[in-house]
Amino acid sequence: MSEDLKTSDAVVVGGGPVGLIAAIALACQGIATTLLAPKPPHSDRRTTALLGTSVDILKALGLWEAIEAKAAPLRKLRLVDGTRRLIRAPEVLFDAGEIGLEAFGYNIPNEELLAVLRGALAQQQNLRVLEQSATRITVSPDSVRVELGGGASITAKLIVAADGRNSICRTAADIRTSKRPLPQFAVALNFTHSRPHNDISTEFHTDSGPFTLVPMQGLRSSLVWVCKANDVERIRAASDADLAREIETKCHSLLGEVRIEGARGIFPLGVEIADRFANKRIALVGESGHVIPPIGAQGLNLGIRDADAIARLAGDASREGNDMGSEAILEAYDVERRADIRARAAAVEMLGRSLLTDFLPVHLARGIGLEIASRVPFLRRGLMQSGLGKTANG
Ligand SMILES: Cc1cc2nc3c(=O)[nH]c(=O)nc-3n(C[C@H](O)[C@H](O)[C@H](O)COP(=O)(O)OP(=O)(O)OC[C@H]3O[C@@H](n4cnc5c(N)ncnc54)[C@H](O)[C@@H]3O)c2cc1C
Repeated sequence: MSEDLKTSDAVVVGGGPVGLIAAIALACQGIATTLLAPKPPHSDRRTTALLGTSVDILKALGLWEAIEAKAAPLRKLRLVDGTRRLIRAPEVLFDAGEIGLEAFGYNIPNEELLAVLRGALAQQQNLRVLEQSATRITVSPDSVRVELGGGASITAKLIVAADGRNSICRTAADIRTSKRPLPQFAVALNFTHSRPHNDISTEFHTDSGPFTLVPMQGLRSSLVWVCKANDVERIRAASDADLAREIETKCHSLLGEVRIEGARGIFPLGVEIADRFANKRIALVGESGHVIPPIGAQGLNLGIRDADAIARLAGDASREGNDMGSEAILEAYDVERRADIRARAAAVEMLGRSLLTDFLPVHLARGIGLEIASRVPFLRRGLMQSGLGKTANG
């Protein structure tokens, strides 16, 4: 029989980037929080482009200075139609200066981001960190109980589920997901190059999906290469030298000579969105609520906005003496996050699929859309701001 050793106002389940940010955000709201963060089985060699609102949220949490020191600014975004289609979109260059920003975002290696976040955990007064997994979640009307290995358990008012795409918290909350696999994979790797990137991120739209170069500090960049299933085995098996030559060719030697750094990660792509984002004292944040393809750098940025929203709502409830896990708070969270998540997932999926189709009108629409958006100043600014998670009005 398990003994109820501990209580906490909130428990965050999961020590990925979203779980760490949610735990810090809740603790900053004065909420007694327990974070369950088992050690990850392997290191994460991906990088993340942190965009507009994420930067604002991380600044408010006092985390930005340390993150910025390890990140590379993305001052310009270049879109190049690399398809061999009859109708191709014009090359477009967006400059963050046009919307009054120094940079659209900042690209940081995930391991560096996690190191900064882990370092910040120890400085939070209201936070307890356990390197343990949740094994079972039981919801009752007034509280929720999280069982840990070894018979211990924690009782809380609110669970913030940051336990990733196979979330046991989501199952305990009786939330279903809709899943749509895509016929593509993402190859993610980092490389050094002989020419400077000049803080420009370049996205080639190819017949299999986007091929995106994202600046890192120095003469280094990360690549997210969306490819079809029949290319994956060849890319997996290629020597570093052969792959470097292929990358050089695909990006028209834009960055000069390429050398692959470290291992390549290969990720099957799909869209998986929860039917609702909170229920039964459990709020879903990050990939427990939404998995979207790495197109337009939206996934973790959405997760950071989730963490910010639940911490704010729980903080307000706590200050007003209300139950932070009540139906009203969870409903408010679901309403606040629903439109943002669904709209971005739909846009990312549409872009991923539009590049695959051979249907001419789709290419026409994409080409004309980009042409108009790039020439009409208010559309151009709106497009840039919405990519950052902001509305066209700021
Ligand atoms: C190639 C690629 C490139 C990407 N680039 C970007 C980008 O540039 N910008 C962007 O915004 N997004 C990007 N993303 C998306 C981003 O990586 C994800 O959104 C993000 O990693 C999700 O973080 P998370 O914390 O929600 O989930 P995860 O990182 O999966 O963390 C979940 C954590 O929960 C833990 N866990 C699981 N079960 C339990 C349990 N029972 N108890 C306790 N802990 C548990 C796991 O150990 C894990 O640590 C990219 C994705 C890919 C595939």
